Amino acid sequence: MAELRIGQGCDSHVLAPGRPLFIGGAEIASKLGAVGHSDGDCLLHALTDAILGALALGDIGMWFPDRDPVLSGIRSTELLARVLESPRTPGFRFVNVDTTLILDAPKISEHREKILASLEKGLRLPAGRIGLKAKTWEGLRFERPLIAASASVLLELL
Ligand code: MG
Repeated sequence: MAELRIGQGCDSHVLAPGRPLFIGGAEIASKLGAVGHSDGDCLLHALTDAILGALALGDIGMWFPDRDPVLSGIRSTELLARVLESPRTPGFRFVNVDTTLILDAPKISEHREKILASLEKGLRLPAGRIGLKAKTWEGLRFERPLIAASASVLLELL
């Protein structure tokens, strides 16, 4: 029987004016963008951590330290690709992935297809195996606006 591995990850970033907003590798029109050492794509960070967790390979901060100046501003699609292509990463295929975003604005329903298309490309997985859900903070207020994401993956080792 195939060896299955489950993994989960979560991430959050502060949102601020004057920054681009990347979600799942897609650039989304928004007045606020994510503050981060990389492009601040919390959905891809959660997904990358879920993959690393499933494979017991540590976490994204161990692979890509946020004090590394070379990684400043790097796209998270590149971080995900480096994990998928690393010789440290054993061969696997996704059974499915599932994700949840939490943010108040912009409304994700208008950008859903773009985000899913980007995830399909980044994960090399058809959209029928990618869950993308979004919710708001339901009136919760923080010192600064926040975006958060969680991700679960089920992998089959090859
Ligand atoms: Mg992050």
